[in-house]
Amino acid sequence: MIERPRGTRDLDPAYLARHGHVESAFRRTAVAFGFREVLPPTIESLDLFHAKAGPGIEAEMYAFKDKGGRDVVLRPEFTAGVLRHYVNDLRSAPKPVKLYSLGPVFRYEEPQKGRYREFWQFSSEVIGGSPLDADAEVVALAVQSIRNAGVRQIETRIGHIGMLRSYLKVPKERQNGILHALDKRNFERLHAELDAAGLLDVEDTLKDLITLRGGPEVLAKASDLLGGVGTEGFDHLRRVLDRLAAYGVRDGLVFDMGIIRGLAYYTGMVFQIHSPNLGAEDQVGGGGSYALAELFGGEPIFSTGFALGTDRIVLASEVEGVPAAPHKLDAYVIPIGEGVRTRAFEIAATLRGTGLAVDIDLVGRGPSKNLDYANAVGARWAVLVGEKELAAGNVALRNMETGDQREVAVAQLASELGMDKPRFGGVEFR
Ligand code: AMP
Repeated sequence: MIERPRGTRDLDPAYLARHGHVESAFRRTAVAFGFREVLPPTIESLDLFHAKAGPGIEAEMYAFKDKGGRDVVLRPEFTAGVLRHYVNDLRSAPKPVKLYSLGPVFRYEEPQKGRYREFWQFSSEVIGGSPLDADAEVVALAVQSIRNAGVRQIETRIGHIGMLRSYLKVPKERQNGILHALDKRNFERLHAELDAAGLLDVEDTLKDLITLRGGPEVLAKASDLLGGVGTEGFDHLRRVLDRLAAYGVRDGLVFDMGIIRGLAYYTGMVFQIHSPNLGAEDQVGGGGSYALAELFGGEPIFSTGFALGTDRIVLASEVEGVPAAPHKLDAYVIPIGEGVRTRAFEIAATLRGTGLAVDIDLVGRGPSKNLDYANAVGARWAVLVGEKELAAGNVALRNMETGDQREVAVAQLASELGMDKPRFGGVEFR
């Protein structure tokens, strides 16, 4: 037996049916919001992520040398690749550039429920919008995508990292260390970082600040705590909230000053979406505005976006009892005897051409074994192709649920199964 690599999964048909439902809800929503799909490569150059987040992030990356000795990684997310693509190829496109991506990403993390080493993300970016309009647009897209996947129980926590950055009057690298420790709630490290930055006097304020969560009153409290610093950021958040109402996004929104998002490139509004039903790994998505284009050699440009973990949306949809798409097999075709096999395959091909889901005996079983199989795979109908019936242009059609069986003209078979027109252009009724 060969084991799967740790933290990976074999995704089975039941899981993929749910995942497919989530994926198509996300795609439909992105398209409805005017976003277009892009897909950067699975393998990226290590430099892309060095430039983006600093060498620290390497610990969680699948990084290795390829056969040509180049340092490459399996993408741990989409945003960096999409921004690289923007800087290289899309700089002169009309603004804003609105893009989404969907696919697997890889992180060398400690696996547990809802946390895997290969998982899927739905990621979106608005590049070159105005801050208020673009921030509200991405939060609305994230929330609406989750709703359209059938998941209702979510809380969207919105914060602002810009106000913290203006409060921490030290160079950006120092800020990043402090923000990272604060994000991880690693207070020992926070103390050390503040000490090194000569900012121990703000330690208590920062610890108080990150506990503030609630309605607009939270913004006033936070502003008081910071002694009036960051007013612009707080006003921005109030306006984002008002704008979200215009999108019909009103429920489950809170301001949360504890949303830090430790990565170095966030600049302004930040947000996270949580499900109350997922235990420890309850964060289903997160994002915010960021400055990346200039790191990759482009002009500075306002950018904002998010990533949702599609696997966690699947888990949440299960807990919330969102119905899974049933397995669909309309008919199973059973040739009775060698002499009719070719004709049976023609009949199956014709039915498949109409868009019906049709299976056929591939091992040459006898009729009763075949009926057992049809039952086991959940076929709604069995089509029994026998020599005598065929001579009269007929087959026997058996309802697998009731056991009722009757003769039907081959030419009528598709319409008996609910499909009267050939589709997919090729196969005609015969
Ligand atoms: P991030 O890029 O870290 O902001 O992650 C975005 C989203 O991806 C998170 O909110 C999670 O829903 C999901 N996610 C992150 N890491 C994992 C993981 N190891 N396994 C499954 N989902 C994850």
